[in-house]
Amino acid sequence: MVIFTDSYNMKKFGIAVHGGAGTILQDKMTHEKEEVFKQGIKDALATGYVIIDKGGSAIDAVEAAVRVLEDYPCFNAGRGAVFNHEGKHELDASIMDGKLLHAGAVSCVKNIKNPIILAKEVMQHSEHVFLCASGAEVFARSRGIAFETDAYFFTAERYEQWQYSRAHDLMQLDHGSEKKFGTVGAVALDLQGNLAAGTSTGGITNKRYGRVGDSPLIGSGTYANNNTCAVSCTGHGEYFIRAVVAYDVSALMEYKDMLLKEAADLVVNHKLVELGAEGGLIAIDSFGNIEMPFNSAGMYRGYCKNGEEAMVAIYR
Ligand code: ASP
Repeated sequence: MVIFTDSYNMKKFGIAVHGGAGTILQDKMTHEKEEVFKQGIKDALATGYVIIDKGGSAIDAVEAAVRVLEDYPCFNAGRGAVFNHEGKHELDASIMDGKLLHAGAVSCVKNIKNPIILAKEVMQHSEHVFLCASGAEVFARSRGIAFETDAYFFTAERYEQWQYSRAHDLMQLDHGSEKKFGTVGAVALDLQGNLAAGTSTGGITNKRYGRVGDSPLIGSGTYANNNTCAVSCTGHGEYFIRAVVAYDVSALMEYKDMLLKEAADLVVNHKLVELGAEGGLIAIDSFGNIEMPFNSAGMYRGYCKNGEEAMVAIYR
């Protein structure tokens, strides 16, 4: 897919999305499955790209792209979220606007169709940054946010993963004995030079009731600052929280004058590896440079920049 537009010769803009990182092995993947994942990434990119191409905001593009991925049952967010220990789906999401450093986040919410929309509502229509569990659900009702039944979030594959995890007393990162993180996220730079990032997840299969990962935590799973970059992470949340991954990339650029490429590589391929953490991130800087490093076997990912061919990939 090559997208040429009138804005080609103007300012830089772009969007990148991910559908999770982990032990995604080509020999264990069927062609049909691969196509579904790739289609999800392509749809998310196209949806977000159109918004910024028409002069819309990075924050709207990020929200729209993440929403598309939340609606795909194959990704661990929204509809395809994993089961927790109680057999429920507890959803986490966050979003950040790099222009004013505004942010919104929700965690442990149930039956919310699109947690990223709720996170944005928290950012724009509450006096808070972070709402959790029943408090976030009450707020969602007051804002007319869509709820869905438990049946909507049921997928046979996730159910089997949960049964397996329960039987073996395991806490699984998304996919059976293979570690795979199906969390979704997006980062974007708009024509006004504004950056935004968003992340959404069901967390970890068989996780404890009330467990919060990195995805809804501003600074850990999501961060955006117009002066540096926008970042969305995927990986083992317990490590990503302690490594404050998303903010670390931004801080290395801000305080050490690192390029996005250097900062993202240092964090993902050195700092996280030393901690024993598996995963990756997508990031875009204010010049439109995009980096998508991961230290796992694969990461569902893609990007689209003005005037360049869109890229979608899974493996190294
Ligand atoms: N980071 C997510 C979490 O720990 C998992 C993932 O990336 O899939 O909740």
